[in-house]
Order: sequence, then structure tokens, then C-alpha cells
Amino acid sequence: MFYDPAEGLSRDELDRLQTERLRAVVARAATSPFYAARFEECGLTPDDITCPADIAKVPLTTKQDLRSNYPYGLLTVPVDDLVRLHASSGTTGSPTAIFYTRKDLATWASLMARCMHMCGMRPSDVFQNMSGYGLFTGGLGIHYGAETLGCLTIPAGAGNSRRQIKLIRDFSVTAVHIIPSYALHFADFLQAEGIEPASLPIRIALIGAEPHTEETRRRIEGLFGCKAFNSYGLSEMNGPGVAFECPEQSGMHLWEDAYIVEILNPQTLEPVAVGEIGELVLTTLTREGMPILRYRTRDLTRFLPGECPCGRVHRRIDRIAGRSDDMLIIKGVNIYPMQVEQILMGLPEVGGNYLIELSRDGHMDQFTVKVEITDEFFVEDMRGLNALRGRIVAKLRDELLITPRVELVQHGSLPVSEGKAVRVNDLRPKE
Ligand code: ADP
Ligand code: ZN
Repeated sequence: MFYDPAEGLSRDELDRLQTERLRAVVARAATSPFYAARFEECGLTPDDITCPADIAKVPLTTKQDLRSNYPYGLLTVPVDDLVRLHASSGTTGSPTAIFYTRKDLATWASLMARCMHMCGMRPSDVFQNMSGYGLFTGGLGIHYGAETLGCLTIPAGAGNSRRQIKLIRDFSVTAVHIIPSYALHFADFLQAEGIEPASLPIRIALIGAEPHTEETRRRIEGLFGCKAFNSYGLSEMNGPGVAFECPEQSGMHLWEDAYIVEILNPQTLEPVAVGEIGELVLTTLTREGMPILRYRTRDLTRFLPGECPCGRVHRRIDRIAGRSDDMLIIKGVNIYPMQVEQILMGLPEVGGNYLIELSRDGHMDQFTVKVEITDEFFVEDMRGLNALRGRIVAKLRDELLITPRVELVQHGSLPVSEGKAVRVNDLRPKE
């Protein structure tokens, strides 16, 4: 039933495996210039870490630490032993480089294959990877997972929707990896070409790499007539394959044989209670070339309580609510773009794209949401459109507690990014 026996481990077995791997990885990390200095600073030796609970003794690692020790400061092997480099997409500043040994690549590919098998992909599926390749881990990371599982794998890359359609049709593609914002755009594109998205043979879509809501997932499933599974990862932890949805589609199992997972209150840095939202902090247990201990992902989520009916005991995290640095402060109110998306994607009149624009009028923040409307509704008369705008404003106000300006725009008029969607355009003068 399981692709990898590690999926079926009991809690006790997982604890034992974590203990063994944590001790090994801490000892290994201590040989890198960065952690050697860190451990010395806080008077820590690898022998102080004897069980997973001891992880709290290890100092946190931040993105800034990776930047300050760029490029090679976290390596535990000579450069000769490395075979691959990836970099984060740089969504929030300058990128960081991550290195892999041959063994690291094999471990990662097998984690990814496990995720794909879990959500129902089989070697008989024809798989098209519709996300960017290059330094972004969603390209080669997903690619080698699908090949390891044994699927015929098409490295389509991002964009060029017309070619994507041809490949999907010519080779009867049954499974895809696609960034959710591009999936919505792709559906719009298909419809504009007179093609019903559900007429394509796709039965499984792996969607991830950027925050999205349950409403967006349901919309993608409805449009393509497929099942869509949330895929989470970050380059610092290899890339995709860190946490993934099972067929229950109720939270993502975080692979605890490969990572130690903590969720901390970002202010106090103490663990939060189960069910409470905090910052995800991860430790690599199996990385050889560049182990990272207690990495602050800045991604906000919570542990889901209870056992999953699928039989895997690896703990489940909720979909990512946003990054701590995504938070907007508008007129003193904290707002996450996902709150806006959740409202918009629940409305059938709204198309696949939107943009939040922040500007300043004198001393007042102006908060505008530009919303693409499906062609069908755009032909409505002025009264119909005004009524729709009024409904969107009211729903957003109820959720956000401030009143945004809403502009309805024609489908296809807002910018589309080839990679992760850019949802916020902040035009406010820098302080
Ligand atoms: P960058 O941090 O520059 O975007 P990465 O390409 O490594 O670099 O992206 C990892 C980040 O992407 C994660 O930390 C998270 O913020 C986001 N992400 C990845 N998968 C998901 C997902 N399924 N849901 C929400 N956010 C995700
Ligand atoms: Zn499950």
C-alpha cells in the first residue's frame, strides 16, 4: 500500500529513527564552518543532543545566516563531492544557494516519488511538469521524482500555454505539476481558445510553490475535472517533497523520517499548542552536503490534530496561511493576501487573477483590489457590475475589517507571472 516503508512507521519507530538521524546530522553539521562557530558560541557540543526534544537547545538558523555564509559556509563536504546547485526563487530578497551530493539528490527524488504515489500517481501516468526549470527546485525536483516513480515525464517548463496544450493532448497527459495561479490562468486561456479544460485527460494536478486557498483548489478541480493536491517545500529543505497531501486532502503530511518539524510562536520562539498558528521551523535529518538545523521558514501554519484515516502517522500541517513577511499593515490592520484570495475565489463571477494595490493619498493608505471578471459577467450592464462590485466590497470588509476600493477589470488585463504569482503591488513611498 505504501511506496516507501517509512510512510507506515509507527510513532515509536519514527521517534527512534529521528533520534538516530538527529544525532548523526548534528554531528555532521558541526563540521561545517558556520555551525562549528555557532556551536562554539553557545557552548554546545553534538553530544548534548541525545533525543528529538533536545533540539530546542540548538540555535535557530535564519535566511540571513544563509546569506551571510554564502556560498559555501554550511557545507560539510568538499565542493568536489557536490553534483547540483539550486537557489530559492528570491521572492523575498536576494537568493540563497543550496548544494546537493549525489546521495542528497537520490534521497530527494525518492521523497518526491513517495508524495506522488501517495496522491495516486502510478508509473502508468504520463506526467507533465508545467513549472519553471532552472534554479527553481520545482523544476528538476519534481522532474526526478516523477522519473523515479517511473512515469513518462515531460519537462514542459512554465508558460507557452499553446505548447502545453499540444503536449497534453499529443501524449495524453494524465498528471501535471502546475503553480496554482498559472493553473487558473491556463484555464482562462483554454476557455478563450474554445477548449473546455475538463476535456483534457488530466486526472491529477500537483499544485504548490505558492500560497493558495481551499477555494482556489476547488476551483482548479472543478475546471479541469481532476483532483488537486497541495505540495509544499522550500529550497533550503531540498525543495518540493517536504509535506504533501494524501488522498484525504485534509492537511499535508510532513515527512518526519526526513525532517524534524516544530511550529513556534514567532515572537516568543516557544512552541505553540496544537491547532495554533505559528512559524514552521524545520531540521533536515537526511541531508549530507549541507545539513540545516532549525531553519526558520517564515511560513505560517498549524498542526492539525488527530490521526489521519490514511494510516500515516507523520504529522499533518494545515495549508500555509502566508509568510510572516507577506503580512500587510493597512490603516493599522494586519492583512494577509490569502484572506483576499479566499473571498474572491469563492465567487463564480471572478476570474482567475487579481491584484492588491497599495498607495498613499496624503497620510492615508489606499487599499485597492483589482479583480478580473469572467467574460460572461463582463458583458453585464453597469447596474449588474456595480451590484457585483458592491458585493465584493462588503465581503472583503467583513473579512478584513477595513473597506477596500474594488475595481472590476476585464479578464486577461492584469499582469501574469511565469513563476510564483505577484499578488501585491506596493506603490507607497518607502519610509
Ligand atoms: P523563495 O523563498 O524565494 O520563494 P523557494 O522557491 O524555495 O524560494 O520557495 C519556498 C517557499 O514557497 C516556501 O517557503 C513557501 O513560502 C512557498 N511555498 C511553497 N509551497 C507552498 C505551498 N504548497 N503553499 C504555500 N506556500 C508554498
Ligand atoms: Zn493521510
